[in-house]
Amino acid sequence: MTQTFRFATLQLKRRLPPSVVSTAEAALFEASFDSSKISFPPEAVIKPRKEADIGVVLALANRHRVPVTVRGRGTTLMGSAAPVRGGWVIDMLALNRIAIDAQAGMAHVQCGAKVGDLQRAAEAEGWFYPPDPSSKEYCTIGGNIACNAGGMHGGKYGVTRDFVLALRGFLASGDYVEWGTATKKFSAGFNLRDLWIGSEGMLGVVTGAVLKLIPLPPARWTLLTSFRDETAALRSALELFRRRVQPAICEFLDRESVVCAERAARTTVFPGQAGRPLILIELAGGAAEVREQKALVLGWAKEHATAFRAARNRTEAEALWAVRRKCSGAMFELGDSKLNEDIVVPMRSYLKFIRFLAALKRRSGLPIPTFGHIADGNLHVNIMYHRANPGEMRAAEAAVNELMRTVVDLGGAISGEHGIGLAKSPFLRVQHRAAQVKAMRAVKDALDPRGILNPGKMFEPVRIWKYPKLAIHLPWDHK
Ligand SMILES: Cc1cc2nc3c(=O)[nH]c(=O)nc-3n(C[C@H](O)[C@H](O)[C@H](O)COP(=O)(O)OP(=O)(O)OC[C@H]3O[C@@H](n4cnc5c(N)ncnc54)[C@H](O)[C@@H]3O)c2cc1C
Repeated sequence: MTQTFRFATLQLKRRLPPSVVSTAEAALFEASFDSSKISFPPEAVIKPRKEADIGVVLALANRHRVPVTVRGRGTTLMGSAAPVRGGWVIDMLALNRIAIDAQAGMAHVQCGAKVGDLQRAAEAEGWFYPPDPSSKEYCTIGGNIACNAGGMHGGKYGVTRDFVLALRGFLASGDYVEWGTATKKFSAGFNLRDLWIGSEGMLGVVTGAVLKLIPLPPARWTLLTSFRDETAALRSALELFRRRVQPAICEFLDRESVVCAERAARTTVFPGQAGRPLILIELAGGAAEVREQKALVLGWAKEHATAFRAARNRTEAEALWAVRRKCSGAMFELGDSKLNEDIVVPMRSYLKFIRFLAALKRRSGLPIPTFGHIADGNLHVNIMYHRANPGEMRAAEAAVNELMRTVVDLGGAISGEHGIGLAKSPFLRVQHRAAQVKAMRAVKDALDPRGILNPGKMFEPVRIWKYPKLAIHLPWDHK
């Protein structure tokens, strides 16, 4: 710890209650890593009980140039919550109030609240908050806002950004700000609310949000379909979308994903058709809307799928979900490490992309099970390798480079929901022209002139897979 940091930490301890600031070794270790499992110990961890505490922390940090990393639950896979430059970590988990305005259809939340808790609170009032990352029982609203998190509902309902009406929090200087109000319309001045969404803790600390809710869909229907191969599956999905069907969920699993998941679930989804690519469809909405769309989907399945099965109730629907839920963890039978790339491909490029992926698997010699949300083009491409095998590490690095360049060439994105952090920092310039990166840096410099907020991320290319990983198991591993 430098003299300046030590002095600043002493000042911090004087300004805040003793229970809020910790320099205990166990607390520093807990805050040193996220789901990337790469550890950078901070000098102090701050667990604010009042939002105003954060203003105090930032004003001091800014004065003494102490790096500050904000932390929700640390579920990011991108290394974006790891304090690479040390300094202070602000842990948001104690700021977790949720209040539902059932008349306006809005949720007033503090940013340490968990997404799953928000969804349950909304549903208890007949409302629905659609963004649903698979990590929702762990991750926070603040983390979702900072990463613009998505999930399976993205195709029909959108992502976190589409539900944020207003934000409040603190600038790097410690000044309190509010972007927007609890209204559905707001057109007064520059929209810095949207600038904070997806800014990965680098432009300010979000303490609270007003989120839009939609009426809880009364009807749901689930169908699982299988196809001869990936090309047939994606070509058929495109036909489904052409017929104006808008599933609430539309999940694709390629053959490698299905083989692993069926083995893990000790089941064959469609007897005699083991290991075929699958598409899982869930319709949601009013009873009449679901009835109408169901007829279209069944007609489509009869024409295109090699097999299909519809759920007659929620228990049967859960059974259809079993393979999808297993696939992320099951693929570790193919390697002890994965590069989980949440790329986006425009629909018009699906078939080109699937040909590219088959060629990439052949060229790299690595398993690359792929699954994801095909109603919005957000596919999870999982490059599997063994850390102890240098040849496989090199092949994985080459494969990820090729993947990133290809998705951008196809008009897509290097990240649909996880953000950049450390892991995707080498590819920021693949996605963005020099002038675009320069504009982003200018925004960063304007809002955080001393560079204290989450430094070392996004703009500075780091090859994250070269760092040693902690050998620990996190509660959400393989979910
Ligand atoms: C098993 C698993 C499944 C996942 N599935 C999905 C998925 O389906 N969809 C998806 O989008 N993501 C998914 N993720 C990624 C991750 O859960 C999300 O990125 C989530 O938004 C991170 O939330 P968090 O509270 O854990 O934030 P953290 O990991 O603690 O932080 C993430 C980033 O947000 C910043 N941050 C956190 N809180 C604030 C705040 N209050 N103000 C400013 N900045 C802040 C941090 O500095 C950091 O840069 C998954 C992760 C795992 C491990």
